[in-house]
Amino acid sequence: MDDRATNDPSAVIEADRAHVWHHLLQHKPYETVDPRIMVEGRGMRVWDITGKEHLDAVSGGVWTVNVGFGRTEIADAVRDQLVTMNYWAGAQGTVPAARFAERLIEKMPGLSRVYFGSSGSEANEKAFKMVRQISAKHHGGRKSKILYRDRDYHGTTIACLSAGGQKERNAQYGPFVPEFVAVPHCLEYRAQEGLAGEDYGVRAAEEIEKVILREGPETVGALCLEPITAGGGIIVPPRGYWEKVQEICRKYEILLHIDEVVCGMGRTGRWFGYEQFGVQPDIVTLAKGVASGYAAISACVTTEAVFEMFKDDTDPLGYFRDISTFGGCTGGPAAALANMDIIEREDLCGNSARTGAYFGEQLHALADRQPLIGDVRGIGLFQGIELVADRRTKEPLDERQVMAAVADCLKQGVIVGATNRSVPGYNNTILFAPALIAGQGEIDEIVGAVEGALSRLPG
Ligand code: PMP
Repeated sequence: MDDRATNDPSAVIEADRAHVWHHLLQHKPYETVDPRIMVEGRGMRVWDITGKEHLDAVSGGVWTVNVGFGRTEIADAVRDQLVTMNYWAGAQGTVPAARFAERLIEKMPGLSRVYFGSSGSEANEKAFKMVRQISAKHHGGRKSKILYRDRDYHGTTIACLSAGGQKERNAQYGPFVPEFVAVPHCLEYRAQEGLAGEDYGVRAAEEIEKVILREGPETVGALCLEPITAGGGIIVPPRGYWEKVQEICRKYEILLHIDEVVCGMGRTGRWFGYEQFGVQPDIVTLAKGVASGYAAISACVTTEAVFEMFKDDTDPLGYFRDISTFGGCTGGPAAALANMDIIEREDLCGNSARTGAYFGEQLHALADRQPLIGDVRGIGLFQGIELVADRRTKEPLDERQVMAAVADCLKQGVIVGATNRSVPGYNNTILFAPALIAGQGEIDEIVGAVEGALSRLPG
């Protein structure tokens, strides 16, 4: 047997080093350092190819494995489905797609149609295309602008980057798609006007209204927002914000598209992040936690009213002329059904809320002991700490120091995330999104590692 059959570690590392182009990574250091190759996972623990064990505080790196690793129940469901019928193009139906759409819609009052795809970016592209086509079909092409928020992220394609508020991610990828217009973000910790709480929330939403009035409300088709800005720094808008956003969208007949790619499927302690704020979206996009990474699946979910706008028999080009080859893979919805069973049976939304509250308390307690922490933000098992060089001036901690803290945690066997290379000058937040099965013991381990790492940063 040659080493290809045995997966000999050094042969795998060399194959990776020679041929894999890793995502979101500067490869230069890997000329001398070995790439990290993950081999096995159980619950919240993962093992790399050197045998080192890690506690994963970021659900597979990018907040995806909501139910944790090693769920044979999901693997079995996928296997059974694949041997029965692995694929059919989405122009026709399949059993798991119909079943999963029905289960999902039961949890999303006011919404009724599910358009399947295979990634979060793709789901958002679908939403943008729907908005553009509604403008073409129903508004003479005039209502085609899509508003997005500074510091939000919606995916990696050129249109998603055009709707992306993370300038460092976008750099060098232009020119972008026209008629995507930025609105300001809503970060209370750095509010300029001395406003706080609900007053700040309402003011931040009014800033969106100003942009709408400047652009002309009749030209704006949709407002696309993350419920809680995720990779841009775990930014939770204060009360008043979402209520006002909803009011503004209704007033100017602007579709509200909420990107739940990260916050959906229990992350914040409810099924969907928007439920935390009592808003009613017109379009919701979902990916990551839908099948917890056991299969690729995404969904663009709409109201019946949006769906109806594409139904008529007078316009030969009037239906949604979109397709996703892998949106027809049945492994995705089969995995999503089993994933949903687990979230329900184990009350993982409830656990996210309870353990998340404990996590928040522990981070606040750590902030009392550790002056580098300027702000603690989050809901449920979705938390972040913004690091500052000086609490009084709120000067962001240098990003090299932030990354040194992340690397220190890794050395201790705890994997955490950071706002790395996203927002100019503010790559200073450490991010946590552990699997929704996390208990207090794991939270203590994560907070302990962060405390150790911060205490070792040069003063
Ligand atoms: N929206 C949000 C809020 C995200 O965080 C991401 C991915 N991190 C995406 C969309 C894009 O998802 P994908 O990588 O599956 O295309």
